[in-house]
Amino acid sequence: MMGTSAPRLTGNLFLDRAPGNAMSELRHSLAPVTLENARIIYDYGQPMDRVLFPVGSVISVVLEMSDGATAEVGIIGREGMTGMAIALGQSSSNNRTIVQIPDGALSLPADEFRSAVESDPELKAFSLRYAQAVFMTTLHLSACNSLHPINARCARWLLMAHDRVGENLLRLTQEFLSQMLGVRRASVVVAASELQAAGFITYTRGQITILNRSGLESAACECYEKMEREWKKIMGYSVRKNGAIVL
Ligand SMILES: [Zn+2]
Repeated sequence: MMGTSAPRLTGNLFLDRAPGNAMSELRHSLAPVTLENARIIYDYGQPMDRVLFPVGSVISVVLEMSDGATAEVGIIGREGMTGMAIALGQSSSNNRTIVQIPDGALSLPADEFRSAVESDPELKAFSLRYAQAVFMTTLHLSACNSLHPINARCARWLLMAHDRVGENLLRLTQEFLSQMLGVRRASVVVAASELQAAGFITYTRGQITILNRSGLESAACECYEKMEREWKKIMGYSVRKNGAIVL
């Protein structure tokens, strides 16, 4: 449009693709934050006072059982945001949302995001599509967690993290990965050893490096491809590492 210049890209695909004037105005309120490993963003029954748009960090939505066992029901990186339920009128959390891979994010007060969504029909429609994509991911993850073997799920998770981090080095511990996959740490060690023996990854304490992405894709369950395809259909952009990084 005449007289305006394209807004600067933030590196978060939700922000960079969200339509509507309200969102461009909100850009002034975005504050860069550094998220350290295992920081809890939202917790059970706690108010959700801000939304985060990851840039390089990966955040997991987990459910915890009364015996302490956990399972991941959502994964959020540069393709999305935390706290979408805020746009749907929810103000306190019904899950634990925790930093899985540390790095940066852009933070926005929750009430500013809520009023922007309420005042801008284009942004509202986009946000509802995002909520639908998140719901689709949750359904797939639930099925994956109960149907597929740990090795394939581990490869699937690493691919999803790789897409969101944008580099080959993933700073995460096996302990954390086992919590996300809802299995004992020993099972993750076996799965990671097999992926390493195949030459797909290498790992040391606290970090995993992707060496052979197509090999990892061959080891992953079908869920990775299916979620990616469905995501693109709903949102119009790809989560995939090489699919939509716009610099
Ligand atoms: Zn699966």
